[in-house]
Amino acid sequence: MNSPVDVAVVGTLNVDVIIQVERMPEAGETIMGRSVSQRLGGKGANQALAAARHAPTALIGTVGDDEDGGRLLAAQRAGGVDVSHVLRAREASGTAFIEVDDDGDNRIIVLAGANRELTAEHALHALDATFPGVVLTQLESPPEVTEAVADWCSRHDRRFLLNPSPVADLPAHVLAAADPLVVNEHEARFYAPDVDDDPVAPARSLLRVARSAVMTLGAHGVVVAEGSAVRRIDVEQVRAVDTTGAGDVFAGILGAHLASGHELVAAAELAAAAATEFVARPRQG
Ligand code: ADP
Repeated sequence: MNSPVDVAVVGTLNVDVIIQVERMPEAGETIMGRSVSQRLGGKGANQALAAARHAPTALIGTVGDDEDGGRLLAAQRAGGVDVSHVLRAREASGTAFIEVDDDGDNRIIVLAGANRELTAEHALHALDATFPGVVLTQLESPPEVTEAVADWCSRHDRRFLLNPSPVADLPAHVLAAADPLVVNEHEARFYAPDVDDDPVAPARSLLRVARSAVMTLGAHGVVVAEGSAVRRIDVEQVRAVDTTGAGDVFAGILGAHLASGHELVAAAELAAAAATEFVARPRQG
């Protein structure tokens, strides 16, 4: 099926296995866990579900030909995401093992599994078929996929949103295509290592590497840098229940509102409000 969509998300789908512990074990130590739960995640999957709330969205990726793959696809379909370009691969579906201690600190090990089998060829074929106005990607997929997607967007004059997470070095032309580069404070300082504590400074510096930049600051809101203007957006002060995936909700909703014609600042305001509402809401395991 080759239906056109407004947003395509190129990225990963994972099953998150969350183990609650009192404290982290030392090397060589065995401890008893408190509980284990599962959530469906992966940055691509999270961002596609968020985008699909506001715009026709397709996810381009790979899952295993296994039960987890079936669950991951079913959840996307239930959220209205077009999964006709998610391939079933030979390897098992991606899994993230997340240990969370009583202080809320976490340690995460990701097994990419089927996500590793996403190829640039498949991603480009899917982009040609869906021809989205906005393409959103992260750095959990193989690097040659990210590069091919950036180049496709430049070639076809489609808007390329890059959320460089987990943060890594990138070719200059990939960063230069990002419009915007969507980063949290940690990622912003990787690409714009200003010593200044003022968050406006790194956001402005990101304009040296990307076409535009949106920097999220958790409870401190968002900074948008575009052209010669830098704008701060405040968010409502809420009691955060769970901030996991807040950046993904932000990026997905930003992409959807850009696809429906909003200016960058207006789209970022809507995305920030939605992400803040999301962190204040309890979630089921
Ligand atoms: P990431 O999850 O990528 O580290 P952030 O922590 O910056 O990203 O969060 C993304 C967005 O989620 C923020 O811009 C904000 O809108 C919302 N958010 C996150 N944490 C909080 C919080 N403690 N209070 C209010 N909003 C929050």
